[in-house]
Amino acid sequence: NGFVKLGLAKELLQAVADMGFTQPTAVQMATIPKAMQALDQEAKNDPKAKFTDLLVSSQTGSGKTAAFLLPVLHTLLKQQEEAERNERAEFERLSAEAVARGEPPLKKPKRKDPTNARNFKAATPGALILCPTRELAQQVCADAIDLVRHCRGLRIANVVGGIPYQLQIAKLQNADLVVATPGRLLDLQRSMQIKLDQVQFLVVDEADRMLDLGFADDLTEVNQLTIERKQTMMFSATFAPRIMQLATRVMRQPQRVEI
Ligand code: AMP
Repeated sequence: NGFVKLGLAKELLQAVADMGFTQPTAVQMATIPKAMQALDQEAKNDPKAKFTDLLVSSQTGSGKTAAFLLPVLHTLLKQQEEAERNERAEFERLSAEAVARGEPPLKKPKRKDPTNARNFKAATPGALILCPTRELAQQVCADAIDLVRHCRGLRIANVVGGIPYQLQIAKLQNADLVVATPGRLLDLQRSMQIKLDQVQFLVVDEADRMLDLGFADDLTEVNQLTIERKQTMMFSATFAPRIMQLATRVMRQPQRVEI
């Protein structure tokens, strides 16, 4: 399978194979390794480690969705594995200390039931994908769910207009990756259902349509709310001057990927 040499986690390679993808498309081949470039620094716990910002020219049908989903999911998965390892080691250390003091070993804490209103806390996703339309956001979300089928702990949520708030909010808690249209996302942010300050990865899909539909101010707001993020990727059919202006506003020295 041609995806193996891109360095993706085995869970993602398995999903890609399940979906019948055998070779990465041109945009996937060009984008995925670049998007994952700073991962070694990340593994060394460098808190300043940043990933390369990317401005990618892409058409619908080129495989662009997997080109941004795969590197983001890969990094979230690796971070989660690391966090679980640390949590386990810490638990074992504390338990061993208790035993050394002559106390019984520690019991694993019970997980809180997220559907219980008393346990409510705002969602704090690590990755955010912005799409211009509800239909596109739903398609990207469906692709993300397909790609995480072998990743035990990664949760995907869709935030779009036209779905009852209560339903959306219940699914949103514990989400690691949120696929959203800007309007509904900012509604939920203002009502404190979602906090965006933990977002590490921001993707703007179909940036040209985003501007056509009048989302420039919303993009500026999301940019401010996620200013601590590590990486931004923008996908656009064209690199028209207004796209380049947007890129200058929301990215740091982006590398261009033209297919
Ligand atoms: P997109 O450009 O992201 O809308 O993708 C267009 C279609 O291509 C979708 O139906 C994907 O499932 C499919 N696709 C994406 N990557 C590959 C690949 N490497 N091999 C075969 N099909 C793919």
